[in-house]
Amino acid sequence: MTPAPVGLLALTRPGFEVECATELEALAAAVAARATARVEPHSGRVMLEAADARSAERLAARAGVDETVFARQLVVVRTVVRDLPRGARVEALVDAAAAHGPFAGPVLVEHADDDSGRRLAGLANALVAPLTGALGRAGLLVEDPARHRLHVVVLDTATCVVATSAPGRASPWPGGVPRLRLPGRAPSRSARKLEEALACLLPPAVVERELGPGTVAVDLGAAPGGWSWVLASRGARVIAVDRGPLKGAAAEAPSIEHRRVDAFTFRPEARVDWLVCDVVDKPARVTELLAGWLREGRLRAMVFNLKLPMRQRHAAVEACRARLEAATAAGAVEGTLRLKQLFHDREEVTGAWWSAERGRARRATPRPVRRRRRS
Ligand code: SAM
Repeated sequence: MTPAPVGLLALTRPGFEVECATELEALAAAVAARATARVEPHSGRVMLEAADARSAERLAARAGVDETVFARQLVVVRTVVRDLPRGARVEALVDAAAAHGPFAGPVLVEHADDDSGRRLAGLANALVAPLTGALGRAGLLVEDPARHRLHVVVLDTATCVVATSAPGRASPWPGGVPRLRLPGRAPSRSARKLEEALACLLPPAVVERELGPGTVAVDLGAAPGGWSWVLASRGARVIAVDRGPLKGAAAEAPSIEHRRVDAFTFRPEARVDWLVCDVVDKPARVTELLAGWLREGRLRAMVFNLKLPMRQRHAAVEACRARLEAATAAGAVEGTLRLKQLFHDREEVTGAWWSAERGRARRATPRPVRRRRRS
């Protein structure tokens, strides 16, 4: 019989451990599991220790990284391996994992994102190939996507957490940090946030179906133009709303139309498919702005960034969620809302909403984004 798990381990942005712990404790309460969150400030990780085997099983059955805002990665802890011998770490880890396998590959070797965690990146990377080889030779890696995946989280050079995740319930990226191809000519680093949201927050089928030539997007708080550039690069026609100037490729793109007006009062003349919003303002004010657009019930999808307050950050996010869900109910628009602190988010979270309605009426193909040749 497979030994019972002992709890959950979340990797988070350093500084957001308390918010993450609050979410994990809520998850425990939702499944009537007795558990205690261990928080070490700025460690980039939170351990939720189950009080008994039954609680641990309930947590393991419920754990899903996509259901949290502040966990980048969420795994089911099987055992903590201490005093790993320097020259024989791989053997010790395989021994510890054996009772819980076999596993679907690939094995993820991860570490926290705090300073000491990042110093372990070299060791984590160096473990991947020999560990994969040794697990394979031991018959512990199988080609069966229905199997749990193995995670090894390196805590220090002599201590690793051996953990698992059910299919689709953890991030497929080590540490929950996605490797993305970023738009080379984007006029701001902010573009990375929208790229990550499109890659990780919305289902690929929705992005594929709802964003592209023939779609119209409004970008509120657009300057200097990174988000507008990402949307235009994917073929959308963009109305970029900001009193400040667009720069670089965004200023030159014929499919980006700049309107120097207030994002809080702007309304388009015709129907738009996407609303994106990166306005820097109080989260409650931005939420109210988004709620107004949702209530009108005409959007296909929305991506927004909320700048978090210094305190009560978890409460601010949940207030936003409640307000937007109420707005969709009032507008009778069915859809899915997700909020997540992405890797590229700092003191902020990103939200995405997409309509449950399938399909879109493609309009006339817009003019392509003009790309300047380098001299
Ligand atoms: N997403 C942008 C990008 O990728 O380049 C960066 C946006 S920046 C974080 C926030 C922008 O919100 C600023 O350019 C600011 O001028 C704009 N902003 C703040 N309040 C606004 C308002 N009331 N109306 C229009 N723009 C506003």
